[in-house]
Amino acid sequence: MGDDNCLFCKIRDGAIPTSVLYRDEHVLAFNDISPKAPFHVLVIPVRHIASLSDAQPDDAEVFGRLMLAGARLAKEAGFGPSGYRVIMNVGKGAGQTIFHVHLHVIGGGFSGSFE
Ligand code: AMP
Ligand code: ZN
Repeated sequence: MGDDNCLFCKIRDGAIPTSVLYRDEHVLAFNDISPKAPFHVLVIPVRHIASLSDAQPDDAEVFGRLMLAGARLAKEAGFGPSGYRVIMNVGKGAGQTIFHVHLHVIGGGFSGSFE
């Protein structure tokens, strides 16, 4: 399933060890290896989708699941009251470096509304 050269497919398949924070048949969440804030989790679809721009109408449910899993993990980590960010980079020009959809869920360390 997916792309043989895809880092996040390898993480999904256990070929690259990662501490999995959440997993179900649709989504998988793990810590970002290079966190940009005190809390920085990535949530990916189990099925390889290269980017949001490649999403099809049938993928609507899994994109909703990414958001809900991210919200739950942020709240469990205590970022409900302070708030947290969910960010998806789409395409090289926007900073996407790994072409397997991933939602960044980021909490803590904010100084402004957006930077
Ligand atoms: P993006 O720039 O939106 O494609 O984000 C890719 C993210 O993946 C970056 O924040 C990286 O720090 C993160 N990353 C790269 N390799 C790994 C890895 N092996 N495990 C966890 N996160 C990773
Ligand atoms: Zn993949």
